[in-house]
Amino acid sequence: MSKQTKYIFVVGGVISGVGKGITASSIGLILKNRGLNVTAVKIDAYINIDAGTMNPTEHGEVFVLSDGDETDQDMGNYERFMELSLTRVNYMTTGRVYQTVINKERNLGYKGKNVQVVPDIPLEVIERIKKAGTLAKADVVIIEIGGTVGEYENILFLEAARMMKLESPKDVIFVMVSYLPTPGKLGEMKTKPTQHAIRTLNASGIQPDILLARGETKLDEKRKEKLSILCNMFYDRIISAPDVDSIYDIPLNFENEKLGDKICAIAGIVSKKLDTVSWNKWKNFAKHAHNGKDTVKIAVIGKYFETGDFMLADSYLSVIEAIKYSSYAQNRKPIISWLNSVDYENHPAKLKELKKYDGIVVPGGFGSRGVEGNLKVVKFARENKIPYLGLCYGMQMMIIEYARNILGLKDANTREVNPNSKNMVIDVMESQKEHLKNNLYGGSMRLGAYKAVLAPGSVAAKAYGNAGGEILERHRHRYEVNPAFIMDLERAGLIFSGKSPDGKLMEIAELPKNKHPFFLGTQFHPEFLAHPLNPHPLFNAFIKACINNKKK
Ligand code: GLN
Repeated sequence: MSKQTKYIFVVGGVISGVGKGITASSIGLILKNRGLNVTAVKIDAYINIDAGTMNPTEHGEVFVLSDGDETDQDMGNYERFMELSLTRVNYMTTGRVYQTVINKERNLGYKGKNVQVVPDIPLEVIERIKKAGTLAKADVVIIEIGGTVGEYENILFLEAARMMKLESPKDVIFVMVSYLPTPGKLGEMKTKPTQHAIRTLNASGIQPDILLARGETKLDEKRKEKLSILCNMFYDRIISAPDVDSIYDIPLNFENEKLGDKICAIAGIVSKKLDTVSWNKWKNFAKHAHNGKDTVKIAVIGKYFETGDFMLADSYLSVIEAIKYSSYAQNRKPIISWLNSVDYENHPAKLKELKKYDGIVVPGGFGSRGVEGNLKVVKFARENKIPYLGLCYGMQMMIIEYARNILGLKDANTREVNPNSKNMVIDVMESQKEHLKNNLYGGSMRLGAYKAVLAPGSVAAKAYGNAGGEILERHRHRYEVNPAFIMDLERAGLIFSGKSPDGKLMEIAELPKNKHPFFLGTQFHPEFLAHPLNPHPLFNAFIKACINNKKK
């Protein structure tokens, strides 16, 4: 282990979903603002090699990295909070680790040895963590172990963490994010589940250095003392982390609790003082989340919302964040509504209600469910001059709608929905045919960062502040605008204002400003490159159009 690299493991207790990812991201931000070079690793315990083959309602958003890795939404949080650009070394799953070990065994990589779950699986985990640190030349690697302690699934990852600590005790520390419930009927915050969680972690040979006590309210002195004694923890390393209105306040709250200094002291991290210039930038940004005066109302038309009886917008996390950043940058509070595309199929009268919104977003999607509803929404936005931003599937919808209603090709469709259409305006990419024929679905889409060239003077070029230069954006798709229809669509007024450098692939479609205030779709996913302090130019332009629309 290199002397200077420190490893901070973030683990969860009691329940998942209480903010381990945001905690890891916030710790990273705090350390980065102390002049440290920080990187992060996410561990997901599932067998899947990546998140790409999972249904969004099962997994939440699939966050695509610049190298095309299909990962977990926490990777997006890391990139956004810490302004990082991560790659596949920063992400691992049980499937990935086992696959490497098994391949190595087949290649005689273990030189005839009996390959065992322990230690060989944890050793591979350790190698991956260290590699992420080495490649980033990191002072600090933050490793988030998904799920909670006590699950079968993540035992081998905890084992890896324990082994790393044994190898270099001073360089490895553990932060536990645990939940303290306040059951309504009792009316008091209970520490017992967290006590059990820490005992469980102890059984893995690990003692947390810091406990972040998540709860609806603040952790009081009395309970802090109790946890300190019963969990064998220093009192001042137990930190209250109550619910907050905005996740962007979390790094600020941590800093108020001196978490950065504490971590540096425990891990022996030598750092500069907090850089007040960049810290103030974050503070100013975080303030916007509390400004409720001027609003902008955005409708997001999706379909991956329902999980059992609950509604979650997790599948569209980066889209929501991108909308927020561009709204905050223009001093607006976004009011985002989740609307189900399927509803517009069954109740077309609902379309009129869309007039309430200042702008409409149709995000990425797969399969035929909700497509006809989406097409109605696109038509409504086009005809009623409501600002429209289509992301990937949302752009493909724009093309189909235009072909049907302007070119008069009534059965225009995408091959993904209707393989028998005579007017396949969206067709499968040449490079994808082989994959589909052989059922090779995993990691085989057109993925990751590709360049596009912008048409000078277009809405897109103006948004990027770039008179016809190149952009680099992240992709995740199998289908594309069918080249056979490009000329007809262009003659009918649609402009392809972004194309792949060889001119073959349509990356952005738009209507000119004199025809529509903002009607633009991208084959890529701009939302993956929207950062709090660097909002995305296309979202900026869209929100600007929404604000203008509101004024009318
Ligand atoms: N299903 C479409 C395709 O594969 C769009 C994908 C997406 O929206 N990410 O091309």
